Amino acid sequence: MLARIVEELSQIVADAGRVITAPAVVDRLSHDFYWYSPVLRPQLAGKCGDVVVQAISAEEVLAVLRFAGKNEIPVTARGAGTGNYGQCVPLEGGIVLDLSLMDKLEEITADGVAVCQPGLRLAVLETEGRKQGWELRMYPSTLAKASVGGFLAGGSGGIGSVRHGGLRDFDTVRAFEVVTMEEEPRVVLHEGAAVHEILHAWGTNGVLTRIWFALAPAVEWSQLTAAFGAYEQAFRFTRAVAEGEQWTKRLATVFEWPIPSFFTPVKQIVREGKALALIMISTEQVDTLKAAAEAAGGEITFAGEFTGPRTQPLLSDYTWNHTTLWAMKADPAFTYLQCGFSPVNCEEQFALLRARYGDEILFHIEFMKNGEGVVIPGAIPIVRFTTEQRLNEMIAFCRSVGVFVANPHVNYLEDGGRFRADNIQLLAKQKYDPRGLLNPGKMISFRRQVVSQ
Ligand SMILES: Cc1cc2nc3c(=O)[nH]c(=O)nc-3n(C[C@H](O)[C@H](O)[C@H](O)COP(=O)(O)OP(=O)(O)OC[C@H]3O[C@@H](n4cnc5c(N)ncnc54)[C@H](O)[C@@H]3O)c2cc1C
Repeated sequence: MLARIVEELSQIVADAGRVITAPAVVDRLSHDFYWYSPVLRPQLAGKCGDVVVQAISAEEVLAVLRFAGKNEIPVTARGAGTGNYGQCVPLEGGIVLDLSLMDKLEEITADGVAVCQPGLRLAVLETEGRKQGWELRMYPSTLAKASVGGFLAGGSGGIGSVRHGGLRDFDTVRAFEVVTMEEEPRVVLHEGAAVHEILHAWGTNGVLTRIWFALAPAVEWSQLTAAFGAYEQAFRFTRAVAEGEQWTKRLATVFEWPIPSFFTPVKQIVREGKALALIMISTEQVDTLKAAAEAAGGEITFAGEFTGPRTQPLLSDYTWNHTTLWAMKADPAFTYLQCGFSPVNCEEQFALLRARYGDEILFHIEFMKNGEGVVIPGAIPIVRFTTEQRLNEMIAFCRSVGVFVANPHVNYLEDGGRFRADNIQLLAKQKYDPRGLLNPGKMISFRRQVVSQ
């Protein structure tokens, strides 16, 4: 059976070398960073596709989906495989559709919209954009590897979100072409509000093949770190920068001690026992920011220019979900949550969590703008893992005190925090993938349509 599938796929794509069955390669391209979660680790470890197809054009994607549909074979799209909750791990085998070779940047329009293929790496887009006076509005800390298509289908925001919000906000994603898994697959253009039907749906309701992604005018950035005696001091200072409209910033992060102690490659910027604020600020404001940090009781431990993704040290490598990676390197018993604290009573919420969990939870704040333009203390707290039950109890407690949680320990969209209440991702799946062949099992509210005789 597999031999016949491979044979036919080899005739569909222009080069049979792009149909891969070598077990080690299929296994590698069937996984992402799901092992981040101690809950998902045992659930997803043995899951694997049967064959990898590396498409190089929308026509090939269309042909692969047509073939898969006719033969009822599941298809799981893959960008760079940096997702952190098994989004691209195939639960029912089938074809892993690797889009990393579709990596062309067609153009950056005069008004700053990048037109590109899905496999384009975000770091390449940032570098090319900067040459033309533009930069990414926001990017995940996996900038170096992650693809534009994977970011749109699996990510939510990151460095830049303090200024430009998340991926779903402020028309950052202008449009894309998506290949459907209908009986006769089509390429459909989604523009404006229609992007939300497919955005962050983990490739369950279509495969992105061409993307219009809005950039921002490039700013000359600098990176700065300041150590503070107490977490509250670091938090309040960073919050003032994040919320203050006078500051042009790209990143506003706070770590309570001992999180900074995990950052071994940059230990020179860390002070024993102290909280650390990490800020990306326009270079022309660095001196003013230094003075403000010192006035707030901080010690500047580093300041240097950001010259692009290859900057050394690249301090964003320690922020967003990379912080968790450093914590896990220091102690594999650490895991994490993805939270949003209230801009109104966050300090009260911190106190409630501290009182109940002590140092079982360590605060790591990432300020970000929400869709209404309000800067909120987003957070990726580090959590000491004991049992799944205890983790779920902590999530329930967070929610009971008004802390939003996007649960990163589940492998389906609905509890992951970005599933839309208006169900438009589900409605799009019913329309575009009625047989449930795209990344099956990841949208649990979907039911395969039964065709009556
Ligand atoms: C250390 C670490 C830090 C991270 N930090 C952040 C962060 O700051 N912000 C953030 O948002 N995320 C973060 N992530 C998650 C992830 O790295 C990003 O979301 C990244 O943009 C995913 O891109 P990718 O190319 O690796 O996608 P993949 O992992 O390959 O795919 C992600 C999802 O998109 C689907 N997909 C991929 N390509 C397509 C396509 N063309 N059409 C349809 N569906 C497709 C896949 O099936 C999968 O469901 C982090 C992960 C790790 C491990």
